[in-house]
Formats: sequence, structure tokens, C-alpha cells
Amino acid sequence: MLEYALDKNSKETRHIGDVANGLECLCICPVCGDDLVAKNHTNSITRHFSHHTKNESSNCKMTQLHIGAQHFFRTSEQYLLPKVAFIYKGDQLTEESVYSKVVKGELESRIGSYSADVWLETDLAAIAIEVCVTHKNQIKKTLYYREHRIPAIEYDLSGYVDCPINEALEDLKANKVPYRWLYEWCREAMISRHNEKLHQKRLFIKKKMSLKAKKMMLDNSLYLPKLSLPYEYEKDGERVSQYIDVYNGGICHFDIVINEVKSKDHLIFKGMYKNKFIWVVYLLEDRVPREISYLDGSVVLHRINKLDEIYSEWFKYPELKKRLPEKIRLEKLHSAALKHAKELAFIYVKSNELLSRRDISRWEKWMIKSNCYVTTDSKQTMPLPAIFSLKNSTLSLWVFNTWDVLTLCCLAQLVDKKPIQTMISYTDMFNELADEIGVHEDYVDIERNVILGRLTELESDLVDKAEIIGSALSIFESRMVIKYEKEGFKRISSLMALLKIRR
Ligand SMILES: [Zn+2]
Repeated sequence: MLEYALDKNSKETRHIGDVANGLECLCICPVCGDDLVAKNHTNSITRHFSHHTKNESSNCKMTQLHIGAQHFFRTSEQYLLPKVAFIYKGDQLTEESVYSKVVKGELESRIGSYSADVWLETDLAAIAIEVCVTHKNQIKKTLYYREHRIPAIEYDLSGYVDCPINEALEDLKANKVPYRWLYEWCREAMISRHNEKLHQKRLFIKKKMSLKAKKMMLDNSLYLPKLSLPYEYEKDGERVSQYIDVYNGGICHFDIVINEVKSKDHLIFKGMYKNKFIWVVYLLEDRVPREISYLDGSVVLHRINKLDEIYSEWFKYPELKKRLPEKIRLEKLHSAALKHAKELAFIYVKSNELLSRRDISRWEKWMIKSNCYVTTDSKQTMPLPAIFSLKNSTLSLWVFNTWDVLTLCCLAQLVDKKPIQTMISYTDMFNELADEIGVHEDYVDIERNVILGRLTELESDLVDKAEIIGSALSIFESRMVIKYEKEGFKRISSLMALLKIRR
């Protein structure tokens, strides 16, 4: 239905609600120029113009939406400048939507050799508004806006072609219509604010880096970062790659530090120690100058991360690289030892039955000798102490290669010899237990070849002496007769009391 028309004489836009009824409205169709008949005696929703002589074309109808939107903006008292967001120098800049007060609105306003659908002057910005129903804004016009830095926005009403005009106008009011900034109203201000921020940040980085360099000169020492290098190998017929730590990081003490270069974007120092040296570079700008790659020898770079913190990294590392073959050799030994330990632990758990048959008479003697088994009927078979019914995983006990019950009993006896509430080292306890019942013949090799710092929690339980004892003691810890501490454990009461059987 047509709601907007042009005044026959002034060619100004007229709304159906503002004209006389019938042909006396003196209006024409903005598209085909036909005289229009105003039918505004019905209610406000159904009143409309109809063509007098010609047929109403689809073009006549679509243009209504365009005119309605134009009219909406021109007559608005305030205008919501929609949210602005764009990428600049790799950063996302945003400005939230803000209300502005409309000072002046003009339709089909001339801008250069183009005309804007609406030219709106507000207290915050003057802005060209384009309303798109079927055709997007011409590229040339958009470029003209950008080139001349004329704030311009395009609203896309193509989704409203089949809706009543009011619906589109309501959505425009609620800022729900899709829009696209052709040239953002506050672009220059945002960019200049951002550039100022970047400038301040650069100054901040320069200051921070210079201070860091000064501190190195003062201390004559520097923390050298960790270095891991990739290493590829074959595993089960497949190519795998992994990183190997060739250097774990640490403080390097220099005999002397010389400042070699002090330029506006970087500082280069030469740190000498013994008869070696390291280049230490502080980057004041976030790029590595070409001359750094010409430096002969090892180079440590200082850079800034996203949180504006200084971090260091190896840029060249000829010396550390020489360590790789030996590290690979150790890595292979580590993997093989660990694999072997896992196999042995698995076998140990599987052969529990066998071990119990082998060790049971030794255990029974131990029970009687240590007064844990008191009976009136010596013919009865000795039952297991109740505590072993809640036995935890015994995987780590593989090391002692003895029936787990006997192992834990011996452990309890050794611990009970220690005074209450004194710290007992896990490793010492391991050694004592090993002296008592021995260790698997392969354990010594395995323990020597694994790299303890590289083990997972589960792997530690299999090869690390302290962890093995910690895990073996868990059965007593759950009864609260011992207490774990970081550097050892403490005995609270008797462990052997839990092993006693009376019949
Ligand atoms: Zn028409």
C-alpha cells in the first residue's frame, strides 16, 4: 500500500495522514508520476493512496519503503549513531553506539556530483545516510565518501520489501536494521587515539627495556632462557617429532658486559665469561633488525609479549645445538628404561599369585616372629590381616619383586622402628627396605636411565624411589597411622598394630 507521495507542485514528500481526501490531495506517484487518490477516511492502518489512471507497479511499491525510511531519518529528533568497529594496524577498534541530537535533515542532498538519500546534521557529526532496498550503494560513491572523509552509513532494508512500512520504521527506531558504515563517523578520532596509545606503549617499552638492560650491566649476570629443540624419530614405523630440552635455563654470570650498539630500535650487548661470549639484544621495536642475524655466535633476544611483559628467547644457539646428539641419546635411554619398567610392573601384578606361593612361608614365619600372629590352634591356615582387603594398587611394588603382602609387612616393621612424629625421608626408607628384601635386578639400570624431571605422576610411582615408598605407604596413610609431608612422612602410631591377628 502506498503511504508516501509527492506534492504535485512543490515535489515535497507527503504522508497519507497529512493530505486532503481523494484527488484533492494534489499528489503524484514518486515513481510513475500518476495522479494519486488519497483514501484516508478509513482507520490509520488501512488508509493509503491509490493510482488514478495507471496500474500500481512493484517499483511504485518498493520505492515507498525507500521514501518511508528517508522520511523517518529526516524527521527524527535524535539519531543513534550505530556501533563502529574496524581493524587498524592489526588491532580491533570499536566505538559503542551513541545518541546524537538532530539539528537538520535534508533529502536527496548534493554531495559532490552525488546525492545522499538523507543528509543529517547532528550535534556529534554530519552524516550521509543511504537507504538500500534493492540496490547497494554505488562503489564510486562509497569511494568518494571515504576519500573525502565524509561520514556515511548504509541501511539494508532489502529484508523488509514484503512487510508493512511501519515494521521497517519500528526496526529503524530500535536500531535493528542491518547497517554498514561506508565511512565511520568517528574514524579519524579513533585512529588518532589509537596511534597515541601505540606511541605511549612504545615509549613505555623503551623505558622498560632500557631498565632491564641497565640491571644486567649492574648485576653482571643474566637469566638465559630454556631451549628446546625439535627431534624427529621413528616409532612403530611412524615418524614422530618431539621437543628435547637442550638447556633448562639458568643464570649466567659474566666477567664483563660491553655495550656494543645503542640505536633507536635496539640495544646490543656482548656478555663475556671464561673465554666465551653471548650476544644479548633488547628490542625496543617489535621487529628483529637484519643486523641481529649477522651477529656471530649465540644470541639471546629480549622482546615484549601481548601483556607488555619482557621475555627472552634464543635467537641463535650454535653452542647449545651441539648438545642435541647427547640429549637424544639420553632421551632414548629414558624411553627404553621407562618402557621396561612398565612391562616389569605389569608382569609383577600378573604374577601376584605365583609370588604369594613363593613367599608365603617366609611371610608366615615373619608374622610369628614379629608377634603379629597369636593363635591357640596352630593347625589353622594363617589368614591375611584385614588391612590387606583394602589393598590399593600394588603396581609400584614391582621394584622389590616380592609378594606385596610381605613387602608391606617389612615396610611396616621398618617404619615402626622410627620414633613417632619425626620426619622420615621417603628415599631413605626406600633404601632401608631395599637392603632388607632386595630390588629387582633391572631396577638399578632403569633408575639410572630415566630422567626424573620428565616423568608423569603415574610413571614416577613406578621408578622414583620417593614416590614408590609414598605409594606403598598409602594403605597405612588411609588408616591415619602415618602422615605425608612434602620432604618426608611422619609416623603417628604403630603400623604393625594393623597387621596383628589373634585367634
Ligand atoms: Zn506509480
